[in-house]
Amino acid sequence: MRETLVLNASFEPLATVTLRRAVVLVLQDKAVVEHAHPGLRVRAADVDLPLPRVIRLCRYVRVPFRRRAPWSRRGVLVRDQHRCAYCGRRATTVDHVVPRSRGGGDTWLNTVASCAEDNHRKADRTPEQAGMRLLKAPFEPTPSDALVLALGAAERDGLPEWLALPA
Ligand SMILES: [Zn+2]
Repeated sequence: MRETLVLNASFEPLATVTLRRAVVLVLQDKAVVEHAHPGLRVRAADVDLPLPRVIRLCRYVRVPFRRRAPWSRRGVLVRDQHRCAYCGRRATTVDHVVPRSRGGGDTWLNTVASCAEDNHRKADRTPEQAGMRLLKAPFEPTPSDALVLALGAAERDGLPEWLALPA
């Protein structure tokens, strides 16, 4: 898969992202193309832009933890693609795997997206105590995930389905 380098507005390299994410950032006017693959363009309907190899953010982004994404509820939902970690249905809440009352923290590895029903059912218990199984282990977002979270660019919302990218 092609990777695109993302520079901060100050030209400092921040992360690499997938080509798809890079195109979303450009289409959302959050970044401009600094270097493109020669001769390759993304073309569809009213979109025509050079295939980005390096993009630069239009606004300076403060990245306090270069290698670690700051935890947030919204971030957990985005990371888990709004899917409940227990049943796979649409999630609107964030569950603490080890409940806060038992010392579990607001961390990437201790929180998962959860539907309201499962969150309620699990209540103040660990998954083991509640007899519930995590379909997927929680994970810490990569630096490029962190960047996308910080920019609020959800790639699924940003790219129209008809826009096919060269592989
Ligand atoms: Zn659920």
